[in-house]
Amino acid sequence: MSVPAVKKRIALSNSRIDLHRCPHYFREKVLRKITTLNGQEAERGLWIHSYLQEYVNHLLNTGQRADFAFAATLFDRMWIERPMVPELKQELWNLSVGYARSTEFDVERIVDAELAIDLDWDLNIVPKEKRDEIWFRARLDLLSFADEGVAIVEDYKSSWRIMPEGELKEDLQAKIYAWAIFHIYEWVHTVKVRFRFVRHKKTTQVIFTRDEVAYVERTLREISDQIEARVAQGLDNDKAWPTQPGDVCNYCPIRCPLARKLEATDQVIQDASHAKRIAEEYVALSRTYDKHQKLLKSWIDVHGPIGVNDKIVGYFPESKRCYDGKTIVDTLMGNQYDVTGLYNVTSTSMEEFIKKYPETYGLFKANTTEKAQTKFAIGNPEDVVTDIEKQPKAKKSKKKGETTHAGEQSQSEPVS
Ligand code: SF4
Repeated sequence: MSVPAVKKRIALSNSRIDLHRCPHYFREKVLRKITTLNGQEAERGLWIHSYLQEYVNHLLNTGQRADFAFAATLFDRMWIERPMVPELKQELWNLSVGYARSTEFDVERIVDAELAIDLDWDLNIVPKEKRDEIWFRARLDLLSFADEGVAIVEDYKSSWRIMPEGELKEDLQAKIYAWAIFHIYEWVHTVKVRFRFVRHKKTTQVIFTRDEVAYVERTLREISDQIEARVAQGLDNDKAWPTQPGDVCNYCPIRCPLARKLEATDQVIQDASHAKRIAEEYVALSRTYDKHQKLLKSWIDVHGPIGVNDKIVGYFPESKRCYDGKTIVDTLMGNQYDVTGLYNVTSTSMEEFIKKYPETYGLFKANTTEKAQTKFAIGNPEDVVTDIEKQPKAKKSKKKGETTHAGEQSQSEPVS
């Protein structure tokens, strides 16, 4: 793919770089600016960022580490100024006020809340009045300086999944933050990057040195070259903008051509006929899902797991609890317990029983074993069973050509 010599390049940012993991999504969102994407979904993240930005600025102005009363007042005001669908109100409250009230901000060390580092192609800082020269923008939610030469960059995340440390250390977005700080502060020798998962009130942190992220500049230029080369092939040329499923699908709200435009992008069901259409799509999707799963199982049983960008389809280890129900019930009856409700010993019936008779906990524990098994799913490459011999053996079902799997306890769920 060749790159035009003199031309203004498409301005990039850490979030745009992330979107380009799927070129199709990048084209729809960044270049075509399709606003019929799931607006509420995108707005939710922006809403939380704006809320926390204003909240932290208030703390910085008043020198407080937390302000519970202001957290609630700010929510009420923002809800009037930037209303969302009523169904999101409770969730937004939890993500904003709930998070603010569970956290203290280190205001003595924070130097900026919502800092934008704008660079041109030669990596010079672009002043505000020359915005059209920006080639790359790194936007940081919080910047603090700790000990001498140590900077802390923090980013708010409203995702359901908490990124573990090992993954964050390899995350390009985290590396871009560190690289941008090293670039503009020559005296910084260490950058701590923290992702604040506001939904779970948990933070993951990784530490970078200058050498570890020096290559990020080259990566950004390469991605920029790829995007320019795609643009040169034409916006309407679908082949230049392929779909590339992976982690990015978790928050992609567009109607993906891969899913044959069947997935729901609606936020709420409006009426009965709308509900019927969603139900029809649900049924059609579940059939497609089952069919794909069956086909893939037959292939993977013989050839092993299949990588799909940063995800993998295959078998994943899981453990199942098995109870020796007969011994448990016989022992309890022998000790004159009322075992009504323990006709089937399951996690739920066991918990209920132990709540009523806490002294029986030891009996249940002694008669419970963990059984290792596998489940078919989409997951991370480091977790998949790669040894074909350790996958469950397929056996012929009654219907010609279909396979079932020994030890399969339940429908597998996609892991996001
Ligand atoms: S769902 Fe995934 S593959 Fe489809 S367009 Fe979105 S990011 Fe790309």
